[in-house]
Amino acid sequence: MSETNPKLRAELEGIPTYKPGRPASSADGAVAYKLSSNENPYPPLPGVLESVTAAAEAFNRYPDLACTALVDELAERFGVPHAHVATGTGSVGVAQQLVQSTAGPGDEVIYAWRSFEAYPIITQISGATSVQVPLTPGDVHDLDAMADAITDRTRLVFVCNPNNPTGTVVRRAELERFLDRVPKDVLVVLDEAYHEFIRDPEVPDGVELYRERPNVCVLRTFSKAYGLAGLRVGFAIAHEPVAAALRKTAVPFGVSHIAQEAAIASLRAEDELFGRVGSLVCERTRVVDALREQEWTVPETQANFVWLRLGERTLDFAAACESAGVVVRPFAGEGVRVTVGETEANDIFLRTAELFRKEL
Ligand SMILES: *Cc1c(COP(=O)(O)O)cnc(C)c1O
Repeated sequence: MSETNPKLRAELEGIPTYKPGRPASSADGAVAYKLSSNENPYPPLPGVLESVTAAAEAFNRYPDLACTALVDELAERFGVPHAHVATGTGSVGVAQQLVQSTAGPGDEVIYAWRSFEAYPIITQISGATSVQVPLTPGDVHDLDAMADAITDRTRLVFVCNPNNPTGTVVRRAELERFLDRVPKDVLVVLDEAYHEFIRDPEVPDGVELYRERPNVCVLRTFSKAYGLAGLRVGFAIAHEPVAAALRKTAVPFGVSHIAQEAAIASLRAEDELFGRVGSLVCERTRVVDALREQEWTVPETQANFVWLRLGERTLDFAAACESAGVVVRPFAGEGVRVTVGETEANDIFLRTAELFRKEL
């Protein structure tokens, strides 16, 4: 075999590969639940499934490149101009397009850490430099420190609200104060993948903040509350130049016809889907209360997951959960993120947490 390989971009060296949540599987055939990817535990709604089946009949054809019908629906739903809506292959896809559109070698992308694992990866792929600003001791975005970190090389700042993996939020007053400090030529991306799970009235809707601020872009997804994780469709709401850049950097035909039709059907079934979200929020309260009863320190979560800071015991805890039948998401040396899932799955997690707590 030749020693000479095709030359690859130096930026790709050392990029951590994105770690998807482990699938649920068990050697002995016992039930195993996946609480590792913040997915919606409910199966597809019958009406949404029907629209997908109907759309599948045309998969010999390319989809609508511009996602016209979906963009129409979103523009109407959010009360924004069509030109301000851009779709992509999940909001991770759109986030990558945003970085590609704004930052290259020599530029900086700021985000909190720990936060969403995709941010360092997509930043490094673009050749830009990550500037990671530690969360506060309470696991919340340190917006003052993030504003202080802005330099004339900064091109984009991610604010993940609620934050993955801690579930914590930033509230209206502090976010507006932060936005007022950011130079108008720096793009702020409000990643609101879990927006529909928020019950704290002090947490702003990014779509309201973007209206008066041309440098604010809101990211939303159909993967979590709407239950379409496997179909890959997300979107951004942003002012004209940013939305136009997203249309230029999109992978052509990336959002399938099936995904477009499922997203439209889901928007039309919001009442039913948000009823499910309400049930998950009740489960979240039950899980957090039970953990606190067990004397765990749990940060206030507004998302569909909880964060346990287990430090050195993180991997042991994840292994204990797995033996009990639930797969969680460990971040070695830091903590575990556990999705709020089916009641039975949450019960197994809570029982495991209780036993583990007694050992600590
Ligand atoms: C899950 C998630 C997304 C959305 O992922 P998709 O690509 O839309 O499936 C985006 N941002 C954060 C912080 C997430 O946790």
